[in-house]
Amino acid sequence: MAAILIVEDEADIQELVAFNLQRAGHTPLRAASAEEAQEQVRAQLPDCIVLDWMLPGMSGVEFARWIRGNKRTAAVPIIMLTVRSDEEHKLAGLEAGADDYVTKPFSPRELIARVKAVLRRRTPQATDDMVEIEGLHLDPARHRVSAGETTVVLSPTEFKLLHFFMTHPDRVYTRTQILDNVWGDHAFLEARTIDVHIQRLRKALAPTGHERLVQTVRSTGYRFSASP
Ligand code: CA
Repeated sequence: MAAILIVEDEADIQELVAFNLQRAGHTPLRAASAEEAQEQVRAQLPDCIVLDWMLPGMSGVEFARWIRGNKRTAAVPIIMLTVRSDEEHKLAGLEAGADDYVTKPFSPRELIARVKAVLRRRTPQATDDMVEIEGLHLDPARHRVSAGETTVVLSPTEFKLLHFFMTHPDRVYTRTQILDNVWGDHAFLEARTIDVHIQRLRKALAPTGHERLVQTVRSTGYRFSASP
């Protein structure tokens, strides 16, 4: 469900990670150097980065600092791959902005579990976890929304919008923030387009009374909340 950039110069490890991410339902993107990864990040913002420590040219730590130092990319979770298990290297990685690290040799299962944990923390709309608010159920794996016996029919866009809202309840988001989170920051859409999708979402949720959860916050944006 998530686009994950693998930055690793060793082809067999890159392949192993990509294969296992794909099998877990993610879309792997690959780069063999930090410089190549910078190009990829400029073209498409990934949901998570699996970053090798030892790279030719720019190091993994420098790349992590670049990601954190840039407003557009600062929130992308990073999992560092390191050959060393000593504390000093772990600390340097975490200080550079990594969210977690895995020591080589690692089991693919462990790495996938770490990726999932980091996504759940940082970008819950990129996981397959079921969400429920006020009797409204959203199942990302089956792409299904229901309330009691009623199935809520949504277009793929409205589904993504609802998934984002349900994983980020009770917070106010501006149209631009919603656009960045749901459509990606390279989408060329008018912020006002959000209003159209919000209206469609409300209409789809009206039969079960859940349209009241999609709240307009005057002169700011929108909030998804069970409280008025
Ligand atoms: Ca390496």
